[in-house]
Order: sequence, then C-alpha cells, then structure tokens
Amino acid sequence: MEFMTELPLSELIITATQLNDSQADWHFHLLTPMCTLNAKPQYALVLEDIGTSKNYVSYQAIKPFAASNQLAKMLHGSGMIDPTGHIKAAELAPDEKPIYNHARLLTDQQRPWHHHMLFPNCAYNKHAPKWTLLFEDQSDTQVTSLVSDTEPTLLLTGLEQLFYRR
Ligand SMILES: [Zn+2]
Ligand SMILES: [Zn+2]
Repeated sequence: MEFMTELPLSELIITATQLNDSQADWHFHLLTPMCTLNAKPQYALVLEDIGTSKNYVSYQAIKPFAASNQLAKMLHGSGMIDPTGHIKAAELAPDEKPIYNHARLLTDQQRPWHHHMLFPNCAYNKHAPKWTLLFEDQSDTQVTSLVSDTEPTLLLTGLEQLFYRR
C-alpha cells in the first residue's frame, strides 16, 4: 500500500477503537513478514479507515497477537470459527475447489500458507468493486487470486477451519 501512517501499536488500537465507536467503516490486516502484501520483513498490523481513505500501520518484531485479537473482536464480535468443523467441499464452485484442496494438502503436509479476504473497499483489492480472495502458498511464494461478485463465504469458512486447525 502506498500511503500508510506509521503508529505505535497502542495508538493504532486507540485509532481503531475511535473508528469503531463512531461506527465508521474500517477493517484491519495482520500481515506476516512472509506475506506478499507486506513490504517489510516484520509483522505489520494495518488499519484502514475507509471513509477518509487513511491507512495506518504498526510494524512489530513479534506477532502482535493480543492486539489483532482485540481488533478482530471489535470488528467481527467474539464469534470464532470452529477449527474442528468441516465444510461440504462438494458445494464449492469449480474455481474455489482447487484453492480449498491446495490448502488442505498444505495443511496435511504442515507447510505454511495463509489467505486474505479483501473486501471491495479494501486498499489492497485490485479488483474493486469485486471481492478478492488471495491465497498464499508460502513454500513457493505462489499467490492465487479468486475474484468474485459476492463474498465466497463457504470457501472462506473452509479455509479458516483449516487455518485454525494447525
Ligand atoms: Zn499475505
Ligand atoms: Zn483491507
């Protein structure tokens, strides 16, 4: 992302809380050092204020786990994905199945991967007004994009189940 204001972690949390309290349109990303969206070899907690198009980042040497959990709770409520659940993979669309199967294979092989669900208004989304799901196979830095008119909720649930099962 081109323009991001760098903030200390505590100030980024305060900014997110203020946005949330004023019911602004916001979301965040926790980027690992390996992530292709991340320009620096550190963890990056990225906060997007959609209304003003202002973006903030806090770089951290150690994964800011508590801070990202706090933001996730604010954004999504406390509803957590059940990592023991299984989606009905047969119900996935033809272009979704290869991504799910790839994730399942990598998970079985204990190889690193992660994904991003980029909302239509996300600054990282190059296909707005469509939704973009990015799947990153970190073992060969291969990135797969799935572009769709609506949120691919079944695939997303399936990926999150696999992700949190590890
Ligand atoms: Zn990534
Ligand atoms: Zn975003």
